[in-house]
Amino acid sequence: MSELRERTTVLLVDDCAEHRVALRKVLASAYEVIEAADGNEALQMTETYFTQLVAILLDEGMPGIDGLDVLQIMQSKGWLNNIPVFLVTEEESDETMARGYELGVADILVRPLKPEVVKRRVANMVELYRHRFELERVVLEQTARIREQEERLRQTNKSIMEALSAAIEFRNCDSGFHVRRIRQVTRLLLLDVMEHYPEYGLTQEQTDAISELSIMHDIGKIAVPENILTKDGRLTADEFERMKAHTIYGGELVRHIIFPQGERVQRYFYEICRHHHERWDGEGYPDGLKGEEIPIWVQAVSIADVYEALVSRRVYKPAYAAEEAVRMILEGECGAFNPKILASLRRVAVRLIAEVSGEAAEEPPEERPKARVAAPAEPAAASPVQEEKESAQRSEAQTLFLLEQEKYRIIAELSEDMVFTYNQLFDSMEFSEKFCRVFQVPAYISEYSKYRPSARTFYPEEYEALIRCRNRLTWAVPEMEMDLRLPLPDGTRPWFHLVLHVILDHRDRTRELGYVGKLTNINRIKREATEWQKRANTDALTQLYNRAGAHILFEELLLEGKNTHTPLTVAFMDIDHFKSLNDTMGHEAGDQILTAFGQSIRRLFRPDDIVSRFGGDEFLVVMKNMGDPTFVREKLKQLCRQHLQIACAREPLEISCSIGVAFYPKDGQEFDDLLRKADQALYQSKRAGRGQVSFYAPPEKLS
Ligand code: GH3
Ligand code: MG
Repeated sequence: MSELRERTTVLLVDDCAEHRVALRKVLASAYEVIEAADGNEALQMTETYFTQLVAILLDEGMPGIDGLDVLQIMQSKGWLNNIPVFLVTEEESDETMARGYELGVADILVRPLKPEVVKRRVANMVELYRHRFELERVVLEQTARIREQEERLRQTNKSIMEALSAAIEFRNCDSGFHVRRIRQVTRLLLLDVMEHYPEYGLTQEQTDAISELSIMHDIGKIAVPENILTKDGRLTADEFERMKAHTIYGGELVRHIIFPQGERVQRYFYEICRHHHERWDGEGYPDGLKGEEIPIWVQAVSIADVYEALVSRRVYKPAYAAEEAVRMILEGECGAFNPKILASLRRVAVRLIAEVSGEAAEEPPEERPKARVAAPAEPAAASPVQEEKESAQRSEAQTLFLLEQEKYRIIAELSEDMVFTYNQLFDSMEFSEKFCRVFQVPAYISEYSKYRPSARTFYPEEYEALIRCRNRLTWAVPEMEMDLRLPLPDGTRPWFHLVLHVILDHRDRTRELGYVGKLTNINRIKREATEWQKRANTDALTQLYNRAGAHILFEELLLEGKNTHTPLTVAFMDIDHFKSLNDTMGHEAGDQILTAFGQSIRRLFRPDDIVSRFGGDEFLVVMKNMGDPTFVREKLKQLCRQHLQIACAREPLEISCSIGVAFYPKDGQEFDDLLRKADQALYQSKRAGRGQVSFYAPPEKLS
């Protein structure tokens, strides 16, 4: 939308040419003035010149659609917010005034008009709208800037957290899986605390923030020497002290980070890093805090951390099954915890075991029908050699898949893409944050095959293409792309670009581990492409179809004509002596004549007839079902001599044009042929003195 201050054009709408001339005189010194002689033309011109219009003066009483009808249409299109419209009436009737204001006119002018008053009132209103626009623009700009800053801060913060936790994982030799489980367990526990222990005053917002921060509880390990972190075997007392110091380092590190969300978040973060090894009985470290001295959120992270350590395999211990890990914590084998948080753990245990898996790659998938429920501590010991080898291969493939999945997840969250990841072994689907927001689905769905979208979700031809391409994916060509329309919760079906990448086991290349997909909303691009196409087929001066547009539509009509035996009338017209009009009145006046001529022929024909400016001063009209040639001739004759009012001339100009006509199917079957014949007939009209209609007649055969 152009700024109002950059616009300078006023549109005068009045069926009476004298009124228009009078108003033009008043306004021409301050504005560019354009005119419309009826309601339809007014609407068409407003659309065409929308970005240049600074005001519209609209006559109330016009034949056809009158001023109030025009206003109503303008209001429904939302135009009145952008352009002040003055309603010009003959008399001051209360009813008209009330209706006008109700529809949103800026002002009402009552005839007889006083030039000075009209000038002043238009100027005042334009000034008022300019101020309003300016104000709205400033407010919009400021809001957008603030939003952008907030978003940038949020993203920076998130990416720093992801990057740091990835660094810790890397040094710790853990996978991204570890980090995510801590977050999920913390969240489950805090949600339960929120529900059952209101005395802690925990809010959803805190729960969200703390679960996110929980993944960083070990950030202080950055300062622990590598050889201690990755040591194969038990630590010496000295080494253990160095290891314990990660809580102190972590706390110190966090104290120097400035959080855009404020000091409260920094405090949670500090407490999590420093105190997640404190225990209820005061036996923990580094400060020996006891009981409720340990904030409730830190207690939740501690349990998550202990659970995670139990279900992960370490050099010095096997991976415990999820149920076993929960039992060990509840029975106090891993230090003392608050009875309330243990009660929470007991309550969420079933969900925790079902949703938050143990070491994912510990055993063959066939042996875990209910997905990830239990991982036996030492599964490989009893297996035959072959089975052990296969299981190792699978676990390696699955680890690769999880890493890949994690990589996509981080990229997705950073780029705000809509990503979904399907894990075949667990039959689980995970969606990125944006995906969840847009499609309103949960972030994680287990037993996904039950919820898979049905064919009805898609357009049939798109669904067929999707399945066809999907079934063709192989190790050599693992990726496909396509555009498709998908339903949103608000009932719309915008266009999306889908990229789907199937992930196969790198040893058994036919075995699918899952897939990762990405959706991008391309509705705007599609719309723009259509808009560009429209522009390519439209003549910029007259807004009629151009030669290319006419050709495309003609072919369509012809096809339809052939199927339904609909006759077509092709009329080719050329303005007479246009060159000399150009020479005497100037090129600009010439352009205005072309526009006015175009509008007058557009008005004369039905909306589904093709009316086009073919080039220069040539126009092509194709009509359907015109019937009788006499009627064709009468109708076209109206165009041969016309009076057109243009802005560059005081008086209406008499314009003459010559027309040549050919009929489908009588004179030809194809576009080029019919065009050539209409052109020959046009030549005939020119030769016979111009300003007339000629029908194509085949040359007489020589006998
Ligand atoms: P005739 O009666 O034989 O048709 O004579 P004419 O002077 O109209 O000649 P012709 O149709 O061959 O010339 C068309 C002229 O239209 C030539 C060119 O200067 C002018 N013209 C073509 N495109 C434009 C345009 O976009 N704007 C203006 N103002 N003039 C144009
Ligand atoms: Mg001409």
